[in-house]
Amino acid sequence: MTKMIQCISPVDGRVYAERAPLSPEAAAASVARAKAAQGAWAARPLEERIRLVQAGVANLNADKDRIVEELAWQMGRPTRFGGEFGGLNERSNFMAGIAAEALAPMVVEDSGTFARRIEFAPHGVVFVVAPWNYPYMTAMNTIVPALIAGNAVILKHASQTLVVGDRIAEALHKAGVPEDVFQNIVLDHSGTEKLIADRSFGFVNFTGSVGGGQAIERAAAGTFTALGLELGGKDPGYVMEDADLDWAVDTLMDGAMYNAGQCCCGIERIYVNHKLFDDFVEKAVRWVNTLKLGNPFDAETTLGPMANKRFAATVRAQTEEAVAAGAKTLIERQNFPADDGGAYLMPQVLVNVDHSMRVMTEESFGPVVGIMPVKSDEEALALMNDSPYGLTASLWTQDQDRAWNIARKIDTGTVFMNRADYLDPAICWTGCKDTGRGVGLSKLGYQSVTRPRSYHFRKVKA
Ligand code: NAP
Repeated sequence: MTKMIQCISPVDGRVYAERAPLSPEAAAASVARAKAAQGAWAARPLEERIRLVQAGVANLNADKDRIVEELAWQMGRPTRFGGEFGGLNERSNFMAGIAAEALAPMVVEDSGTFARRIEFAPHGVVFVVAPWNYPYMTAMNTIVPALIAGNAVILKHASQTLVVGDRIAEALHKAGVPEDVFQNIVLDHSGTEKLIADRSFGFVNFTGSVGGGQAIERAAAGTFTALGLELGGKDPGYVMEDADLDWAVDTLMDGAMYNAGQCCCGIERIYVNHKLFDDFVEKAVRWVNTLKLGNPFDAETTLGPMANKRFAATVRAQTEEAVAAGAKTLIERQNFPADDGGAYLMPQVLVNVDHSMRVMTEESFGPVVGIMPVKSDEEALALMNDSPYGLTASLWTQDQDRAWNIARKIDTGTVFMNRADYLDPAICWTGCKDTGRGVGLSKLGYQSVTRPRSYHFRKVKA
């Protein structure tokens, strides 16, 4: 019997949505339809593709009320935050706006003798495997440029956010993107891996865990399929002694706790110059105690349940282990009565932590953060780099030269100064080490969803 793919709501444990995964034959037929439709899509004028994709994004916006409610049911995000439309629109508009320039041929020579140039051809069919934590933005980061560049796109969304794939498909189809050019399909892991191993795609963009990324890389082995792997992180903040303390606390604690800490570039560990340490910790604790954990449909709730009780169990285990090894918890249980031992997890700030503890080295992906004092930039740098991951790092100082000097020595994808937990669509989204490889957003993001094709035409005989 087919095992159904289910979304168990973190709000109350109900089965919120379920779908049967496609059979291998049906999945292969989807790919065949996408391949057959792609040429005509790529042949349409760029402006038309941009217009249809933007109309699709507008349709999502028009569906905001339903989408915000569904997000709360599927992954627990409080409705007061209104979904993820700010980032979705900013990124989609930006990528639409730079498309003509980013996809323009690189003309090396156009003389009486030679035409030499590089053009950017669509891969054909692009496969997007998306996570649940920002289910619209993470998926659309690739879908938007991939469609604009002339690819057909097949989306396989996370089980936890099954309905999101349906909504994206409805919005794009209503806008006029042909049904075979954008398809949302439901697959289990083996079905996903089989399609990749069968060389169905020109490019696969996977956003998710390190283990998932490794499985995708293994599935693609030997197929020479281009891969973008945007994986986990353990992003540090470093607060220097000249930092604007209130600003640093506000931004870093928001970066640690927003979306119940389930942000790929959320702040997971903080190093503070020892001169500011006590003040920083005191303010951080005060900041966290203003959060309200509860049902995501309540207007006062600022911290919803984690998306799944198994994710909360990981954070609980990391915290308990750290405490057993000497860490101190600074947030009192009584301030967060909604913690139910399951998906509803109180936030936590830990001190007396070190890198022997998993909570300081492994991704927590939840509302917990460890704070350590440091005496020098060298010590902070060594700690920031003592990580298997490399997604972002956030530096807090008024001294730009000092920040540049440290930033260039951090093994990571993006370095922020006096900012955190933000994707700027104009600069590329990328990582290193176990965070994977690949490039999304920005002009470079268009290079991921296309392949260069060189033309060397001699016009006259030598
Ligand atoms: P996940 O468990 O790896 O799942 C991501 C997607 O891949 C889901 O659609 C999942 O399907 C699918 N999948 C997982 N393992 C697979 C396998 N072996 N074969 C085929 N498909 C597989 O990750 P998640 O829990 O959804 O997302 C959280 C993770 O994503 C965190 O580690 C976070 O840091 C990372 N993330 C990174 C970025 C970035 O930009 N670097 C952005 C967002 C999130 P099912 O849901 O059906 O299992």
